[in-house]
Amino acid sequence: MRIDLHAHSTASDGTDTPAALVWQAGECGLDVIGLTDHDTTGGWTAAVDALPAGLTLVRGAELSCVSAGPSGPVTLHLLAYLFDPDDPAFVAERSRLRASRRDRGREIVERLAADGFPIDWPTVAGIADGGAVGRPHIARALVSAGVAGSVAEAFDRLLHQDGPYYLAKADIEVLGAVRLVRRAGGVPVFAHPLARRRGAVVDDEVIAAMAAAGLAGLEVDHTDHSAADRAHLRGLAGELGLLVTGASDYHGTNKPVRLGERTTDPEVYEAIVAAATGAAPVTA
Ligand code: AMP
Ligand code: ZN
Ligand code: FE
Ligand code: FE
Repeated sequence: MRIDLHAHSTASDGTDTPAALVWQAGECGLDVIGLTDHDTTGGWTAAVDALPAGLTLVRGAELSCVSAGPSGPVTLHLLAYLFDPDDPAFVAERSRLRASRRDRGREIVERLAADGFPIDWPTVAGIADGGAVGRPHIARALVSAGVAGSVAEAFDRLLHQDGPYYLAKADIEVLGAVRLVRRAGGVPVFAHPLARRRGAVVDDEVIAAMAAAGLAGLEVDHTDHSAADRAHLRGLAGELGLLVTGASDYHGTNKPVRLGERTTDPEVYEAIVAAATGAAPVTA
């Protein structure tokens, strides 16, 4: 069994439509694919409708979270699997997060335009095309305008977290997010806990507090983690009784990772499915 539990579509900042994503997942020999767009379930229906024979879809999302740190707020991502998409509190929170993404995206674009970069909000909104807006959409507009040679270069020069045009979003406090996912019958897993491209990371005490609040697992096998990060997180998962997952965090052409580049063990996948009460995996 090959199980990749973290991938993005055009419902947020991936470049494959949900239908193209599940087709690709089948083509590259995956048995299970997790659709985890940022702060939205907008791709779920199209993914289910396009599911190729033999492939199982785990419906999920990746939530934009924040934790108060000793030297300022730290942003982090929480994967949520198999939750009830109609849970009213969770619906409201995802909607709030997407509105903040849109307003902040527009503000970043306006600051870039004011400094003479030849991009505008309608162009970026067109690239996002109704999906949850993220910096990768702005990066693509900068590439199209000839400002940067690649999405990665646009991040490195202009959009990264300590960069001149970075603005925070109105993210959800992470312990509240863990509880919100559980109340909606979902299974929360901390995405790439030590990925430093996103600036500061939380310390182990925050992960322990997340575990106490109901966290189910840590995404240990992620391309942005060093071997030392993985070893440390495996030890921590053992101490805290958390599951260990692995996934590609595929974003289509917005990132160099391949679908299925990292995977989750079948026993861990079964434990996630068993813990979920909000939705079930779908097999065509
Ligand atoms: P945002 O959600 O708007 O804060 O943007 C974060 C998104 O940008 C995440 O999905 C990351 O995968 C992506 N990202 C962050 N840094 C880079 C980078 N250097 N190159 C490409 N994508 C990046
Ligand atoms: Zn993303
Ligand atoms: Fe992430
Ligand atoms: Fe992701």
